[in-house]
Amino acid sequence: MVQINPNYLKLKAGYLFPEISRRVEVFKNQNPGSELIRLGIGDVTEPLPLACREAMKAAIDEMGTSSGFHGYGPEQGYQWLREAIAKNDYQVRGCEIAADEIFISDGSKCDSSNILDILGDQNRIAVTDPVYPVYVDSNVMTGHTGEVLDSGRYKGLSYLPISASNNFEVSLPSNAVDLIYLCFPNNPTGAVITKKKLLEWVDYARKNNALILFDAAYEAFIQDSSLPHSIYEIEGAKECAIEFRSFSKNAGFTGVRCAFTVIPKTLKGNVGNHDMIDIWSLWSRRQSTKFNGVSYIVQKGAEATYSASGKSQIKSLVDFYMKNATLIREKLTDMGLQVYGGTNAPYVWIKTPESMNSWTFFDHLLKRANVVGTPGSGFGASGEGYFRLSAFNSRSNVELAMKRIENI
Ligand SMILES: *Cc1c(COP(=O)(O)O)cnc(C)c1O
Repeated sequence: MVQINPNYLKLKAGYLFPEISRRVEVFKNQNPGSELIRLGIGDVTEPLPLACREAMKAAIDEMGTSSGFHGYGPEQGYQWLREAIAKNDYQVRGCEIAADEIFISDGSKCDSSNILDILGDQNRIAVTDPVYPVYVDSNVMTGHTGEVLDSGRYKGLSYLPISASNNFEVSLPSNAVDLIYLCFPNNPTGAVITKKKLLEWVDYARKNNALILFDAAYEAFIQDSSLPHSIYEIEGAKECAIEFRSFSKNAGFTGVRCAFTVIPKTLKGNVGNHDMIDIWSLWSRRQSTKFNGVSYIVQKGAEATYSASGKSQIKSLVDFYMKNATLIREKLTDMGLQVYGGTNAPYVWIKTPESMNSWTFFDHLLKRANVVGTPGSGFGASGEGYFRLSAFNSRSNVELAMKRIENI
């Protein structure tokens, strides 16, 4: 009889976004005609930059000619895109990352889960709490955890709290860990990490031969020029860190699909017999076997984000969302709420008022303001008592949502 992967049965049922949809459906059925504003799921809303559209259109026409047709491309991505990334995202910031250390993919969500393919089963794993659920669930599916506990945490994972009580600064673990997931600017809290703090993590990883998986999906939203956009701005990071980046949030590519992972050639991992093995070669091998590359058209669209017009259009997009974030922050603060994030990230993290729990506050906003957000507890036990609003929406929707919340 066919056997399934039993680890899937450990996954928490009725997880966050389905539960939000369920409550929204119930509300809509009871209140037909109500106009909901969704500031919940982290998807972008504004149109694709012109430079990207033009590049993709030109690529389609090129594909319609015999001389310009492209079949399978390199599994690791076209050299011209890898070079544009190495130069514009890394070398200009003083990071010595070469084009062949960049692997193009169709998303950071898959990269950050697929990476487990090349890592061992015995790693002690640390995640922040609250956390982007993909890091946890991919480890559950791979069998790296025990059962789920009542708190929603899984046995066998080390959770590092980030909350107001530690100023949203994630502390080094008290127990030894081998694999560390960090996401800054942070989804869901909007918190950031300073270079000084990130250096502590890099030093920890080097001392303990640990690996940091650094998710920089929101680096484009950084406004404070002292903050690191890449972990490779930190000395020593090339010996201990993999970085994930995506065109989803900065260029609105959530529906286009293009991202990349940086694996420095200097990165080594241990095998049972204590030999140190090149991580770069394993990932290259993994991608060649299990992946056939991102479409030529999409990679052309991604390349256009590095042209002069592309850069300025992306900046406008980011500025637009950050203006929404500022609006949300200011309005909620004026209403007397305690808010965090939203200054270097498109997420505002709200302390729920009057010690309401996250889901009570969710229902409150849904019923009284017809605004949908995300309960902090859905991202982890330490998210209880918090609530996430996203700045990804039109200006008029954000303004209307704030007006409605004000009127409660
Ligand atoms: C949106 C997001 C990504 C990007 O995922 P893609 O698969 O590239 O769209 C990565 N990490 C985090 C934390 C995100 O919120």
